[in-house]
Amino acid sequence: MFMKFYKRSQTKKINIGNVTIGGGSPIAIQSMTNTDSRDWKTTVKQIKQLEEVGCELVRISLPDMESAYNVNKIKKNIKIPLIADIHFDYRIALEAIKQGIDKIRINPGNIGSEDILEILVKEAKKAHISMRIGTNAGSLKEVHKNSSGLLRAKALAIATLERVNVLEKHNFEDIIISLKASDIDTTVQAYRIFASKRNYPLHLGITEAGSIFSGTIKSSAGLGIMLYDGLGDTLRISLTADPIEEIRVAYSLLQSIKLRSSGLEIISCPTCSRCHFDLIKIVSKVEEQTASIKELKKKSKPIKVAIMGCIVNGPGEAREADFGIAGNGKYGLLFKNGEILEKVKYGCWVKKIVSMIKDFQE
Ligand code: SF4
Repeated sequence: MFMKFYKRSQTKKINIGNVTIGGGSPIAIQSMTNTDSRDWKTTVKQIKQLEEVGCELVRISLPDMESAYNVNKIKKNIKIPLIADIHFDYRIALEAIKQGIDKIRINPGNIGSEDILEILVKEAKKAHISMRIGTNAGSLKEVHKNSSGLLRAKALAIATLERVNVLEKHNFEDIIISLKASDIDTTVQAYRIFASKRNYPLHLGITEAGSIFSGTIKSSAGLGIMLYDGLGDTLRISLTADPIEEIRVAYSLLQSIKLRSSGLEIISCPTCSRCHFDLIKIVSKVEEQTASIKELKKKSKPIKVAIMGCIVNGPGEAREADFGIAGNGKYGLLFKNGEILEKVKYGCWVKKIVSMIKDFQE
């Protein structure tokens, strides 16, 4: 499954709860809840939904002490490692550590002085947890608003390195790095500069990327470049949408460049006047109904399923896949291993395809 023609950078291996990132481990897919973390039950409910679709690490924002007191309750009710996102008040980070958080993410632009970083490092070391230095161009004084391109990227990387120096001075190296700007050019250049100086695992993301449509395109373009460079140990696709969509996009992106498998690859045609039925609806229903089949994520390579709008290219594509279906508005021909298996009535396509995916043996 892993790509042969480009090499991932050899970063330091770091454990976040029971997930290892860096050092060639599979790129871990993460998301962030958008519930009120003072309401721990609703937050747990959303994390469980994220677990269902394959989220491997989850971050919650802790805006105040009340939310930090919930960390333990949330952790007890979920299976994946929990990360706390802290801004402004380091005491919230200390409480999260006390409550058993698996990792903290701090923003060096607003967490405070070197003394405060020292206090956090001391507690993180005692608790054996990791820390992400999550630098955002928008919140750093050193990254001037009017600078652009390489200059801005350099400022972002240098500011991050300065914070890393503080952590290293205190012999703390369980560090994960992100350097985000909302434009791709600055972000990519900043990651490249940082990666040439240190080998800490990189958390990739394009911040404030936008809606499902524009955010997916922007994130895929930016992350695609960095992944192709061999950079990245964990990633979050930031979308103004249900976080479940972030996981679906992340798997799809990594699968498209053969870095991870979502377990399923659907090949479908764009449709044209030869297509006499609602193929778009069928494909999205199959995607929806298979998104939470956990066994799929464990497959070493994705099951390739072709769902085609007519018999012109349909049977050909379907034959190339593990199985496929192609047909007209009344029925479809179901193919497996290049052989026609049966005719399936139009109304039964989704049910048939989903059940074949569930029963598929490698
Ligand atoms: S497979 Fe058929 S329906 Fe789909 S785009 Fe090609 S010709 Fe059109």
